[in-house]
Amino acid sequence: MFDHLTSLPADPILGLLATYRTDENPNKIDLGVGVYKDEAGHTPVLQAVKEAETRLLQSEETKSYIGPAGTPGFNSAMQELVLGAGHPALVGNRVRSAQTPGGCGALRVLAEFTNRAKAGATIWVSDPTWANHVPLLGNAGLQIKSYPYYDRATSSLQFDAMVETLKNVGEGDLVLFHACCHNPCGADLSREQWKVLAEMAQTQGFTPFVDMAYQGFGESLDADAYGLRLMAESVPEMLVAASCSKNFGLYRERVGLAMVIYSDAAAADRGQSQLLNVVRGNYSMPPNHGGAVVESILTDASLRANWEAELAEMRERINGLRSGLVESLQAAGAAGDFRFIQNQKGMFSFLGINPEQVQKLQRDYSIYMVDSSRISIAGLSQSNMAYFCQSVAEVLES
Ligand code: PMP
Repeated sequence: MFDHLTSLPADPILGLLATYRTDENPNKIDLGVGVYKDEAGHTPVLQAVKEAETRLLQSEETKSYIGPAGTPGFNSAMQELVLGAGHPALVGNRVRSAQTPGGCGALRVLAEFTNRAKAGATIWVSDPTWANHVPLLGNAGLQIKSYPYYDRATSSLQFDAMVETLKNVGEGDLVLFHACCHNPCGADLSREQWKVLAEMAQTQGFTPFVDMAYQGFGESLDADAYGLRLMAESVPEMLVAASCSKNFGLYRERVGLAMVIYSDAAAADRGQSQLLNVVRGNYSMPPNHGGAVVESILTDASLRANWEAELAEMRERINGLRSGLVESLQAAGAAGDFRFIQNQKGMFSFLGINPEQVQKLQRDYSIYMVDSSRISIAGLSQSNMAYFCQSVAEVLES
């Protein structure tokens, strides 16, 4: 029965990582994988997480099932983190959610949920978008179309073209937005642009679906949620997929939130029964550990203060690297204007070089990035910055 299956090519990012690991050049640099790294190249467990885990180990009394929605404490703490305390949708009792295995779990559950409400509904995603959006949403039955977002030639947002495409999108369609720290391009919407889009959603009737995988990595926990919160004030219904992988550093524990905003409390109760039924038919219920850690951090004042400080440290390191990168590329005499990198947010930017130049960097300098020239900024450090910039300058000259 399985004999006829053909092999698929390896995931490009995981394949890149495997080659990087076997490279013996001591100067090698990995800018492929999208995890935060500190100055020493490590992805540490946050202190607040360690402390919450220590407490859990002592206080946990059972390993019995937690149910398809996860714990109520996790859900309410995350709803407040995402929407902000006192958000009108919360006050109106119009929000329901489920703890999911990562942001990926949330995207998939929400896509299947949507497919129940409207089979084969169209979802508009940005061009470019995170590669995994396509299988996560498409395999659930949604039809995927794209709107222009980022112009590689000018390394800038194409807001006018985005609006031009979306102005024909109406009721029954969904539009996927990255809340902040756009993956892969790093170019975020301004507050004014979010206002325009929120008004379009309101008047045209499309349903916003916001993916928030990097809350706190751009400017601050609140500023990064500005657009999402504004959207949620402007429309009767909305979907949100949140991830705790990056901002809590809980990647492998798989923690996320699938949240739905409904037009009223009665619709919310009916919808939640469907959402939980989707979960039950997929993986029955989420893993507990990571969600329990997040709940403990968000509901304890001192743990929360420690976590926010650690999150700020990660954010400031990335933003510092962004400015450092622009300066060092200039100092190395790299051809081109790279100032756009400084104005972008989060883990990623497109360097803007072509695939041959990307290959040359890998072959001759042991510098690894995906063919699109997307770089994971946190892979840079004070110690490898000069080597990286010198190498880029040489490749651009050759
Ligand atoms: N959305 C985006 C845009 C992402 O970049 C990621 C992580 N790479 C996710 C969602 C989901 O991540 P996870 O499932 O690891 O929480």
